[in-house]
Amino acid sequence: MTERSLATVYGYPRQGADRELKKAVEGYWAGKVSADELHETAARLRRAAWRELADAGLGEVPSGDFSLYDHVLDTSVMVGAIPERHRAAVEADALDGYFAMARGTQDVAPLEMTKWFDTNYHYLVPELGPDTEFTANCVKQVGELNEALLQGHNPRPVLVGPVTYLLLSKPAPGVAADFDPLSLLDKLLPVYAEILTFLLSAGAEWVQLDEPAFAQDQPKAALDALARAYRELGALKQRPKILVATYFDRLGDALPILAAAPVNGLGLDFTGPAAANLDDLASAGGLPGKRLVAGVVDGRNVWINDVERSLSTLGTLLGLADRVDVAASCSLLHVPYDATLETGLDPEVRRWLAFARQKTAEIVALSRGISKGTNAIADLIGDNQAALRSRAASPLTTNQAVRERAAAVTDADARRAGSYGERVDAQRARLKLPLLPTTTIGSFPQTNELRVARADLRAGRIDQATYDERIAAEIRQVLAFQEEAGLDVLVHGEPERNDMVQYFAERLDGYVATQHGWVQSYGSRYVRPPILAGDIARPQPMTLRWTTYAQSQTSKPVKGMLTGPVTMLAWSFVRDDQPLGETARQVALALRDEVNDLEAAGTAVVQVDEPALRETLPLRAADRPSYLEWATEAFRLATSGVRDDTQIHTHMCYAEFGEILAAIDALDADVISLEAARSHMEVAHELAEGGYPREVGPGVYDIHSPRVPSTDEIERLLREGLAAIPVERLWGNPDCGLKTRGWDEVRSSLRNLTEAARLVREGR
Ligand code: GLN
Ligand code: ZN
Repeated sequence: MTERSLATVYGYPRQGADRELKKAVEGYWAGKVSADELHETAARLRRAAWRELADAGLGEVPSGDFSLYDHVLDTSVMVGAIPERHRAAVEADALDGYFAMARGTQDVAPLEMTKWFDTNYHYLVPELGPDTEFTANCVKQVGELNEALLQGHNPRPVLVGPVTYLLLSKPAPGVAADFDPLSLLDKLLPVYAEILTFLLSAGAEWVQLDEPAFAQDQPKAALDALARAYRELGALKQRPKILVATYFDRLGDALPILAAAPVNGLGLDFTGPAAANLDDLASAGGLPGKRLVAGVVDGRNVWINDVERSLSTLGTLLGLADRVDVAASCSLLHVPYDATLETGLDPEVRRWLAFARQKTAEIVALSRGISKGTNAIADLIGDNQAALRSRAASPLTTNQAVRERAAAVTDADARRAGSYGERVDAQRARLKLPLLPTTTIGSFPQTNELRVARADLRAGRIDQATYDERIAAEIRQVLAFQEEAGLDVLVHGEPERNDMVQYFAERLDGYVATQHGWVQSYGSRYVRPPILAGDIARPQPMTLRWTTYAQSQTSKPVKGMLTGPVTMLAWSFVRDDQPLGETARQVALALRDEVNDLEAAGTAVVQVDEPALRETLPLRAADRPSYLEWATEAFRLATSGVRDDTQIHTHMCYAEFGEILAAIDALDADVISLEAARSHMEVAHELAEGGYPREVGPGVYDIHSPRVPSTDEIERLLREGLAAIPVERLWGNPDCGLKTRGWDEVRSSLRNLTEAARLVREGR
């Protein structure tokens, strides 16, 4: 047994118990909160988090993980990688310049935002070029370290590691697209060395450098860079002890590199597919002479830990390293703050949940368990086993009818009856659409009146009937506009939906909703993902009422609108007690019933959105084929119960396919709409070159911008589309839903769209 094991975490929710940070940051943007007040609130939230972590029994607390917006942006500031266009603003005022990089200003574009690995957190992409010069700016890191030290804690500064930082970067505007940010490693390492020295002299014993990029497949050049980076940083004479932390998946080829590097500790994820790190670590000969931080508590899901299983993993690890500390698999930034606040939940369900505070307690208990022996935590183990048993045995978790139905699914259930050729003929005969038909992606502007009506209904200020009448009125208006604009396949506009996942989650058994389960999505934006807790069943139709109401108001076809199984999983907390594919299949069966009900009620076109198909790709390529297999099967299962003459659409919000092209084909949707307006219809060419055989609507209206595209511009884009896709298979539509746009822009843009389609049809 090791002498002692520390409990620690890599990061903690930043927002505060009541999302105070959001209020302060947005108040600052609105000019209602001063810079001093903002910094004061931020400092208070940091102090409260450290106090809480230390009181819970963490031996080492993270510092520097806090952020006013994003920790990757903080890293860019720390190494002086300020894009040219933001430099003046940053020099004039560090705080305003920081927010300008994050959000842009009237005149200057912000940094691009993208997903932090396979989480739903978004970071700001560093922009680098051959001329980038790095300089160390330790104000934030040293400042927060000092705060924690002053408060009497044992802080460990947490920094994005240099290699991951470069791998997350992109060439700055104007720099050749093939510029490789890794080529800047030699310039960046001295700056990291300087920062490490600063932190040492400010009192840091340990510094954590995060290298999650190596949980992805990386080419040899990146692996070599990793080896070189830690050889050099490790060789510094005056430096704190270095902990390299990795998370989100197994380390693979990078594991032996980091195990052999002259650093003092390594953090590894042992949850989910990353559990493979255990065998890999043993094969690499363990970590003799090093500290191992074992991420055995899932840092990105909401379920209680299986304490006995973690103790057994930790037991094995004790033989492999000098010292084994216990942590969550990744920063607790990705889970909500405190499950005990969920007083609206069935107490039995609440007992199965662990948010950041509960996970911290689990980590402390596990660390005590391996330091002092499991007898020291016998009570806790007993409680944990009882809670796990309650979850496994609960009727909330298991619905026998759903299980039997899912188990009986055959390959034929996930195939349309007719071949695509038969379907096309049947659909043409039924729908009688013109060449180059026009449609939209589903939502129309979510006006303030709609949001107010929803809030009024929740607060009891209006009754359900009044609310329903407002929705009906909105639908009538949306339809009237579409008829007048001359669109061919209409939508009801989704006015009744707050969110494309939550709306369905609220209507499916097996899902639970939280009241306070906020997690940061980006900047001051927080989302409250629903929790997939049990077997999924549809107690009654979810969209039938408004879709059929809309159809009753027009003679043109109205498209039914559903969220696909993969997206339902991707934007929720998922079950950890069954394979994801199993949950997807249950959701798919519920959606299949909805699709079939829509068809039976006369709906001729149904769209099932899957914007999350690509973002849910596993980090490791080896895991992708099986993912794509169940993901595409779930989509087909949801959509294959219909007749040949019912047209199935799908929609995705991105324009790069690469390796999912085959999967998109495997969805077997009759029509797919995609984002394309900004990328000159590239996607249409890509699909055509890949031999995509069905109908395509590459977006011709960029809905991310308030700009109204002219008829000319749309006509040009449609003609570019025609260069790739034959006219019988091309649709005209916007890039995505219109819910974030204003009515004025939408009216003009869609009129231009139908006019452009007419011109192309006639002039062809
Ligand atoms: N049907 C949804 C909408 O129009 C699709 C949203 C999305 O693709 N993210 O809003
Ligand atoms: Zn979209």
